[in-house]
Amino acid sequence: MISIDRPSRTADLSDVRVANRAAVLRHVRLHAPCSRADVAARTGLNKATVSSLVGELIEHGLLRETGLTENRVGRPATMLVLDGSRYVGLGLRIGADELVVVAVDLAGERVLIWRRAFAAATAGPDETVAALAALARRAINRVTGAGRTVLGLTVGVPGPVDADGLVPAAPAVGWRNVPLAAALRRALRDPGFPIGVDTDANLAVSAELRHGPYAGTADLVYLTGGPTAGVVSGGRLLRGGRGFAGEIGHLPVLPDGPACGCGRRGCLAALVGVDAVVRRLLPDATQDGPITDHLPEIERIQVLARAGDDPVRTGLTEVGRQLGRAVCVLVDLLDPEVVVLGGHLAALAPWLLPAVRAELADRTLAPPPVVRVEASTLGSEASALGGATAALATVEAGQLPAA
Ligand SMILES: [Zn+2]
Repeated sequence: MISIDRPSRTADLSDVRVANRAAVLRHVRLHAPCSRADVAARTGLNKATVSSLVGELIEHGLLRETGLTENRVGRPATMLVLDGSRYVGLGLRIGADELVVVAVDLAGERVLIWRRAFAAATAGPDETVAALAALARRAINRVTGAGRTVLGLTVGVPGPVDADGLVPAAPAVGWRNVPLAAALRRALRDPGFPIGVDTDANLAVSAELRHGPYAGTADLVYLTGGPTAGVVSGGRLLRGGRGFAGEIGHLPVLPDGPACGCGRRGCLAALVGVDAVVRRLLPDATQDGPITDHLPEIERIQVLARAGDDPVRTGLTEVGRQLGRAVCVLVDLLDPEVVVLGGHLAALAPWLLPAVRAELADRTLAPPPVVRVEASTLGSEASALGGATAALATVEAGQLPAA
């Protein structure tokens, strides 16, 4: 983030104004409703500057005044909140079993959440892009029909993504070298707003950081249950040199464990990935062919675990232990405050967490208190929610919308 206290010597006045707008928006987001005087006092900007910035932000539909006034000595103040009525960001997620779209307004409200059952792995990239574009188009029509403007769209995919929005490899959906951002832009006929693509884990951890119960936690790790972890370290998303950080799916956990899609054995993904868990706990699940929809199988596991089924409970404890080994590595490496489990790991968390925590207590070197490991409460739309939030990032960073 650009410092508002010490702008660099080379920054020109417009850069300073952009940074100041961002500081005002951030303050109102965290402390609304608040007065102009509060904003000035807390950001260190002078009152005339705040007044001018607030006027501009109201004019562009990013802030609005509420009728509320503050009860304190002196003149009552008009209170400010973020204006959610004009702009939204869209987030989409390509899961193994479903497509999800979420629209979030500037005030952080989820104005739309749609899901569509879709087997991306069997459909292939072309058909997936067409389905994704159709879903996006419907969502765009819905929000623009309600008088809102879309500022951007970000898609979460289960694999690494390069800076151009190309997906080099996403084994969960069988993709190699798919130029997703470009293909989606073409399919949507250049919609006039930016289209981004990111790893679903990065978007999910961003959603946790903004919308989850651990919002604001500076050191947070999110495990999707897929190949990638989303890592926030020191308040920043950890991307690595090429944007491929967080690939933990092929961490060796169990020598001579089950074969993994990567050609090795005993990788984390081959032990705790959704397909591995279903095959292991429900040996009959693949009798009628490959599993295309994991959700009903995960629900079956939940039912059996609740009923106290011994093999399922023992199996879940084993999965929890193996997951715990990987969490220990992350904890020793990154020293997070919270590790959040998403996807099927969140659904099975009541039976996994005791074993994960036991493994952590046995193995980590960090002094107590031991890191918290918790289930995500954001559901399977977490990465789409993070995508929608990411699509608002330019405006939150102080750029005025073109519309
Ligand atoms: Zn592997």
